[in-house]
Amino acid sequence: MAGQMKVLFLSPEVVPFAKTGGLADVAGALPGALKRLAVDVRLVLPLYRMVREGGFESRPLLKDVEVPLGSFGLKAVILETKVDDGVPIYLVEREDMYDRPNLYGDAMGDYYDNLERFTFFARAALRVAESIDFRPNLIHCHDWQTGLVPALLQAPPKQAPFFRGIPTVFTIHNLGYQGLFLEEKLPVTGLSREAFFRPEGLEYWGKISLLKAGIVYSQAITTVSPTYAREIQTSEFGLGMEGILRHRKASLHGILNGADYRTWDPSRDEHLPQRYSVKKVEGKHQCKKDLMREMGLDLSLRDRPLFGMVSRLDKQKGLDLLVEILEDILSMDVGLVILGSGEEQIQESLQQAAVRHPKRIGLKLGFDEALAHRIMAGADIFLIPSRYEPCGLTQMYALKYGTVPVVRATGGLEDTIVTFDPRRGTGNGFKFRDYDPDAFLGAIRKAVEYFQDSKRWEKVVTNAMGADFSWDRSARAYLDLYKSLLRR
Ligand code: ADP
Repeated sequence: MAGQMKVLFLSPEVVPFAKTGGLADVAGALPGALKRLAVDVRLVLPLYRMVREGGFESRPLLKDVEVPLGSFGLKAVILETKVDDGVPIYLVEREDMYDRPNLYGDAMGDYYDNLERFTFFARAALRVAESIDFRPNLIHCHDWQTGLVPALLQAPPKQAPFFRGIPTVFTIHNLGYQGLFLEEKLPVTGLSREAFFRPEGLEYWGKISLLKAGIVYSQAITTVSPTYAREIQTSEFGLGMEGILRHRKASLHGILNGADYRTWDPSRDEHLPQRYSVKKVEGKHQCKKDLMREMGLDLSLRDRPLFGMVSRLDKQKGLDLLVEILEDILSMDVGLVILGSGEEQIQESLQQAAVRHPKRIGLKLGFDEALAHRIMAGADIFLIPSRYEPCGLTQMYALKYGTVPVVRATGGLEDTIVTFDPRRGTGNGFKFRDYDPDAFLGAIRKAVEYFQDSKRWEKVVTNAMGADFSWDRSARAYLDLYKSLLRR
């Protein structure tokens, strides 16, 4: 390949513009890390209301771009913005589609026109690249919202002639979100029924799956940890996609996410009342005291372990296990701080527990970036009992903040957390294997036991803070993959 490698990067979420989960962190950090490896990356993102209200500086790039949708075309306006690392971001503006309170839906469920919204996004992204004559060497798509792109590129040339022969990489951040739509909506995508609506195409149990489109039609599939890459090929974790994933095994790669230490590092975190580092860890005590005060916890417990959790409140995250053992945990004279938003039922059971124990449990329902940082810093032990966890970022952040993770051994949690071995002094956290309340409680008891032994605890904390999951390593793995596809 002559000259600089060019990559078009499509993500439905990008930090700091729009975020519901870890995908946004990845899309906010990986392009910059690739740029540092001399790749010319350009990102495309819908201009959601959240982005507009974020007050980011942008400039108009293209007016009245005609984007095909179904049997007609709609116009989009494209704005350009940049983040600190200088990666250009093209924002697709179309008020009737993206100017809404949330990204994908509300309490009533997913937005009824998500197929239109994300077909439009996929096609608009291609039109932008073409309009500014940015012919990438490769297109990197993320999650179901962008899964149509690999399919469009396999369609007869008139669909996207400018992109002929360009390979696509499709990254699965969470197999649980499959982008399912009714068969009769297929015309929205512009893809032909004969060629695409087939079991070996994007058909999934009689429906359209944009996730499956990404899996089937991309040249390479990646997911966000080596263990999750193996797990999703089994019926336990494959959610019905295991067959197709096994079929594409040779093209499926597990690349562990990185942590963005520009925003997640206690020595320069602006959200903290006091910064600290592995060499000068005293500031962490102040963070703990402040957090306990902020959440209304009983300060006489400040020498006891403080547990923290920052999570989407979703079945995936194992909160049912936590609710089952809450009373046992609290009987160890500890405090617990939880920040989360999501399912009504989970919110309610947590609220009930918080009402029963107002001085022991600090609960904040909602999305709060600053509080997430303060919990990372102020807690002693971080809980992640996930049913499954493609990669998980919060355990990596917790490590950096010296907040020792107790995790279920699945996906990226398995790949990043090593159980503490007091004899050898190795390990950075505590793991349990079976999805079972007693197993979880057992790991928590171990953590509390070592917490009470300050020499040993110091060792776990030092090990945790020494872990390095910076993006550079992951970016290099992606670059190697890109190169291997371009050599073919
Ligand atoms: P997932 O992508 O499945 O939600 P990850 O661990 O990969 O899980 O990423 C979660 C990200 O979202 C982390 O950056 C975490 O701090 C953040 N997060 C989750 N819930 C909240 C919340 N209620 N408020 C603030 N940040 C949150």
